[in-house]
Amino acid sequence: MKPLIGLTAERFSSGYFAAPDRDVHGALATYLDAVLGAGGLPVIIPLNVLADDLRALYARLDGVLIPGGGDLDPAHFNEAPHPALGEIDPVRDRTELTVVRHALSDGKPLLGICRGAQVMNVALGGTLYQDLPTEYPGVLRHAHPVSEFPRQHLAHPVQVKEESLLARSLGRPIVQVNSRHHQAIKQLAPGFAAVARAPDGVIEAIERPGHPFALGVQWHPENLQALPEMKALLRAFVEACREGRRATVSSPRSAVGA
Ligand code: MN
Repeated sequence: MKPLIGLTAERFSSGYFAAPDRDVHGALATYLDAVLGAGGLPVIIPLNVLADDLRALYARLDGVLIPGGGDLDPAHFNEAPHPALGEIDPVRDRTELTVVRHALSDGKPLLGICRGAQVMNVALGGTLYQDLPTEYPGVLRHAHPVSEFPRQHLAHPVQVKEESLLARSLGRPIVQVNSRHHQAIKQLAPGFAAVARAPDGVIEAIERPGHPFALGVQWHPENLQALPEMKALLRAFVEACREGRRATVSSPRSAVGA
């Protein structure tokens, strides 16, 4: 059985029927294809699901992927909005923070991508730079809009911490990454380790030591599946989901001595 991996939805209006009453909770095909390509079965976690139902939906998953998207409401880390803050989605924030906290406390595999990595940090009490260009002296260019750059544009290298889950997953200590963020992790939440940095020092990946697989990357590996190391990263995540499922499925049997 392939592991079932929940992706929290992005909210947008359907292009064809674009209208305020055509609100879509969906996922970009690149994320779905990356999960499928790595051997997982993706399902979309809709927004506007009540807390109990969200918990029930989450319980059936073998892993969770929090994709990229817009900015988090800085109220979640007790800051006033920066002038460059983009549009926020309180329901998406609440849904993702809830699911991330479940996965972190349950030891269920979790992969955060771009915004998803930021949600992981904020979920455990960390903070964000709301706008790197104005808040981080000496910063490199991290924002590469899709209107100007292909999604697979390699923007900068990242140095990966030795002997981290990320290093094992990628299989190499330095990788070139795409970069489409104007926010980044500022104060790391307790319980996370920074495991990759850009040359300017910006945190590009975090993970939770002791958790089977809780990793957040600031770049977009779903757009880089032509690169062996990025394919390996998705495979490592899906494999952790498979392992977790095996453990969950086998434990009730061993409890009754079968
Ligand atoms: Mn970057």
